[in-house]
Amino acid sequence: PRSFAENILPDAALQSQGGLRPPRCDKRTFGHLFVLSGSRSFPGALLMSVKAALSSGVGLLTAFAPESLAAQYAAAVPEAMWVPWPETPEGGLALEGWHLLRERLSRADAVLCGSGIGREPETLQLVRDLVREVELPLVIDADALQPETALAAASRPASAGGVVLTPHMGEFMRLAGRQSAEYSREALVDFCQKHRVVTALKGPHTRVCDGSQVALSTRGGPVLARGGSGDMLAGLMGGLVAQQPRAPFEPACRAVLWHGLAADHLARTRGQIAVHTTELLEHFGPALREA
Ligand code: AMP
Ligand code: MG
Repeated sequence: PRSFAENILPDAALQSQGGLRPPRCDKRTFGHLFVLSGSRSFPGALLMSVKAALSSGVGLLTAFAPESLAAQYAAAVPEAMWVPWPETPEGGLALEGWHLLRERLSRADAVLCGSGIGREPETLQLVRDLVREVELPLVIDADALQPETALAAASRPASAGGVVLTPHMGEFMRLAGRQSAEYSREALVDFCQKHRVVTALKGPHTRVCDGSQVALSTRGGPVLARGGSGDMLAGLMGGLVAQQPRAPFEPACRAVLWHGLAADHLARTRGQIAVHTTELLEHFGPALREA
């Protein structure tokens, strides 16, 4: 089966995002995102995902970061509440920090995990525990996308929030145990059904699947083919899921579309080549106004 069965994401999916907010609102109206990511080996990725998440319109953001980096991050991005997390000797997130997350969980609406988190076994154990034990909606990206993570998703209780995975094709092959890098609608739908997850399968075309429907976005283009693009998408998605935690398929779709439209806007105004990934931040607003 080919893409005739896929609906292209309508730009209208974003219009509700661009409307005015009710005047009597409060920061808690717009969700509280927790971000659990980063390591000393990849210090930039967490910063990019937090910056993108702050552009999503989320009301509050708490970021748990390796303790040796948290103070610098707070100076760079004071809008987020930074919580220093104990590190392994190699600079990854250590299991010993669990209580920091647990004691604050009742304040969160969603958790984003993965950007720059690395692959230390202890940190991956932390990710597995997060998927098993935290019933909030989760967005999981990058090195946090391991077969064990996806397997843990299937064993979450029915009352738990949804799990959204954001693999590129290489990560999807690892997750799904596939040999082929060809897109297969059937493999994507099967994977989402089997593990009870929403998956945004990223690439030049991105598909978002919840186990029954598949939405397709062809937005973005080669301006996104550079390091950090995925971290920006993960942040945006985490922020949108925290604002609409009950049904993550829709905010996952909106994040993909918004990220792509912002990239199109960036390419139109600054070209595809001599740009930085973080310039996307200045195009989220204009892309929304024009959607
Ligand atoms: P990652 O590989 O995790 O950094 O994610 C890369 C992001 O950029 C994903 O959202 C991809 O869909 C997007 N992307 C990468 N290359 C292209 C391309 N040639 N056209 C459109 N989007 C792309
Ligand atoms: Mg990535």
